[in-house]
Formats: sequence, structure tokens, C-alpha cells
Amino acid sequence: MHTVVVGAGPAGLFIAIALVRRGRHVVVVDRDRGPGRDGAWLRRGVMQFDHAHTFRGPVVEALEAEVPDALAAMRSAGATVETAPDGAPLALRIRRMMFERVLRDVAAREPGLTLLSGHHVDGLRREAGRAVGIVLDGGHLAAELVIDASGRASRVMRDLLGAGEGGPCGAAYVSRQYRLMDAAAAGPVNSPVGLSLGLAGYFAVAFLHDGGTFSITITHDGTDPRMRLLRHRPVYEAAVRAIPALADWIEPDRARPLTPVLPGGRLYNSYRSQLDPAGRPRVPGVIAVGDSVCTTTPLAGRGVALAFLQARALLDVLTTHRDDEVAATVEFDRWCHRNIRPWFVDHTHCDGDRLRRWAGGDVDLTRPLPSDLVVAAAGADPALRPAVTAYDRMAALPSSLDAVQDRARAVYAAGWRPPVAAGPARDELARLCHAVSSRECDLVVAGA
Ligand SMILES: Cc1cc2nc3c(=O)[nH]c(=O)nc-3n(C[C@H](O)[C@H](O)[C@H](O)COP(=O)(O)OP(=O)(O)OC[C@H]3O[C@@H](n4cnc5c(N)ncnc54)[C@H](O)[C@@H]3O)c2cc1C
Repeated sequence: MHTVVVGAGPAGLFIAIALVRRGRHVVVVDRDRGPGRDGAWLRRGVMQFDHAHTFRGPVVEALEAEVPDALAAMRSAGATVETAPDGAPLALRIRRMMFERVLRDVAAREPGLTLLSGHHVDGLRREAGRAVGIVLDGGHLAAELVIDASGRASRVMRDLLGAGEGGPCGAAYVSRQYRLMDAAAAGPVNSPVGLSLGLAGYFAVAFLHDGGTFSITITHDGTDPRMRLLRHRPVYEAAVRAIPALADWIEPDRARPLTPVLPGGRLYNSYRSQLDPAGRPRVPGVIAVGDSVCTTTPLAGRGVALAFLQARALLDVLTTHRDDEVAATVEFDRWCHRNIRPWFVDHTHCDGDRLRRWAGGDVDLTRPLPSDLVVAAAGADPALRPAVTAYDRMAALPSSLDAVQDRARAVYAAGWRPPVAAGPARDELARLCHAVSSRECDLVVAGA
């Protein structure tokens, strides 16, 4: 069967390689041109490309199952896999840019897979209401099946399949990548991904990546214009230095910056069903996967894990319904509704409540606790740990926490609250941002 995949991001590349290894012919089309001859890769349209990523355990499991050579190549490139004492993978530490580069190299070498870079897909070619290919560069490319892996930003597929449910979460962030100096050890860590710090009114993380690289991200609710000054290097550096555990990471004899300070784009949670109200595929012959189905904010770093979980389910469905893409779409959509949509709902609840708390609200015991608070409560009540661990590893759906909701509520009802890391509170940080920015302006004016 001839399959066209729209989008050579993580979801598109992963499913394309896996389908080819199951005997299909696959063409992957992407508007991005790929890395240049000098190795530089200006990835337009995927604004998160250079932002901090960490990859959860299901990403490692999916690569091990379908593209073990890519995982091996990532390790050779300096990536590391953090595992639990029982051997389960917890996190793959690698820059997003390196993750995609390796997956792309494997795809480019794969016999039976054609990678068309620098081609914008303008729409679908349809006959008798069914997709029979894609429109690109004024011509078309025939396909028996089109897989839409065009991510969160593609208008073409969104217009065809509908916008779905969800919306912006409001959070804003800045990040920057660094490299450790030779022989320098990383700064303090407190989790498999590196360092996660809940501060008063915002949070900050240091993610470890491949080959001694790491990134530092500060995320806030986006309401205070002074916090937006963080996008300027002197302001960002002053802010990072004001948070003691982060300051250690960027000591001049420990690390040097690899990128400018990168401001983030809009963050949102969205979910899209592929069926019409009568339960039929909206466009027979097209199946969406990855962020195109479900986009979650990076506040929990689950996007690629959700994309690969979908891709693995789609591979099973396409094997079962090899010649019946309508049955495949219906079964896949139902699977997504049961197994992916709950994460979208969970994110929406967690993100909304987190922003409320960042604005000064207390834990709200009049409503069900969001999952992040249930997880945090395990720090006070070890009996919560088995349930929390399964959820955290994405081995159990968010509903698995319902069984321990009452126990977690009891922790908060007794007055316990998640520890707040040392560092300025949000208003203090905003004042610092403003002061540093004003001082820099004065220096520029004085020098002019
Ligand atoms: C700031 C930020 C940080 C994140 N951090 C994490 C993290 O730590 N961990 C994690 O797991 N996830 C994270 N995510 C989410 C993760 O980046 C996404 O889940 C992931 O990119 C989804 O992969 P995808 O292949 O579905 O889509 P994309 O990566 O968006 O790929 C889509 C591809 O389709 C191409 N395309 C789109 N339209 C067309 C068209 N018309 N014609 C041709 N090509 C087209 C694009 O060029 C692109 O290459 C983060 C997201 C953001 C925004």
C-alpha cells in the first residue's frame, strides 16, 4: 500500500519508519528543508525545536520496539536513558534538535522510504469524498492512505478535520541551552530529567540533554509584563542567578551558553476527534496522529510520549485493518478517545489550576485535586507512591489517581503544602527583571 505521511516531525518520522519496516512504501513530505550542508538547521514552523525537551519513558519503549537503531544512534550521539531501580525507562536525555536529527537520518537511509523536504502540502486531493492523495507545489501525489502528522500548527489539516476542543493555557516561558565545560559536573539535580523547582508563583527547570548539554527554562503565568523582559539576556541571566539552585548550573567555570535566550510561543491543550457526529471518518483515507490529534502544553513534557503511544496504536490498527482504512480510522479514533483524550483533560485541569495557584490561590479542596497536586502529596504520604509512580511513568491513565484522591486530599486538609524552592517570589522576580532592564537601558543611553 502506498502511504503519504504529511510532516517529518517525531510522529511522522517514527510511523513512517515503522510502516516501511512492515512492508509499506511510504513518502514523507515536509515543508522544512532539513539541515543545511553546514549542518545548521533553521527549523521554521516548529517553534519548539530549540526549546527544552525531555522525553519520557514511553518514548524510549517505542524506539526500542520499532526503531532500536535510532535509540542506539542517539546514545552514540551522547544521549542517556535514566532508568528506575526496576529497569523501567524514565527519561531520555537529549536535545529535541538532536532527537529529530537522528530520527531523520535513520528515515533518510531506510530503503522504501522517500523523504521529500522543502515541499508545502497545500491540501488533499479527493475523489468521491475520499482522500486519494495530497496537493503540493501545484501538482499532486497519489496515495492510498494519507497520514496527517503535521503537528499543532498545520492549517491545511485543521481546516479539513476541524479545530477540535481545547484552547490556550496562558503560561509563558523562556529557555536557553548551555554546554558543560570539559570535566565539569552538572549542577544540583532532584529528578530523572535534571532539576525541577516549584517557586512562589512560577517554576523553573534545568533539563539534562546529550553530551554535556542542558537547558534552563523559566515558566510563569504570562500576566506580568515585567516577566516578559526575561527574553533579554542580561535580565534572564540575573533571574537565573537569583535562584540559588539554578545559579550553580551557569557558573562561568561550569557552563557556556549554546543559544540565545529563546522566548516561547503560545501554549495550549487541544484534542481533535477524527470522526463526524455520526461516527464516520471526517475525510476517509486520512488518519491523523501526534500533535495533530492531541497537543498538550510542555508543562509536563508529555507531547512526544503521547505522539509515540498514538503511533504504536495506529501501527496495530493498520495491521489489523490493512485494506480498510475506514475501519482503521474508526478503531484508532476510539482508542485515542479512551487513551489519549484523558491526558488532554488532565493537562487542562492541571494547567488551569496551576495558573490559579501561581496567581496566589491556595489548594482548592472544594473541587477534585488536579493530578500534579496528587503527585506532590506523595512527598508527604508514601502510601500514595505506587499510584503516583504508575501515573508519572504514563503506565496508568490519569483516572488511576481517582483511587487515591481522598488520601491525597487528607494530606492537604491537614495543612501540608508542596515545598517552595529557595529563590525570589514572582513579584520579587518581576521587580528584579524591571530593575535589570532599566539599568541596561540607562547604560545604553549613557554609552550613546
Ligand atoms: C515549548 C515546547 C516544549 C515542549 N517540550 C516537550 C518536552 O519536554 N517533552 C515532550 O515530549 N514534548 C514536548 N513538547 C511537545 C512536542 O514538541 C510535540 O508533542 C511534538 O513536536 C509533536 O510531534 P509531531 O511530529 O506530532 O509534530 P511537529 O513536531 O510539530 O511536526 C510536524 C511537522 O509537520 C510539518 N508540516 C506542518 N504543516 C505542513 C504542511 N502543510 N506541509 C508540509 N509539512 C508540514 C512541519 O514542518 C513539521 O516538521 C513541547 C512543545 C513545546 C511547544
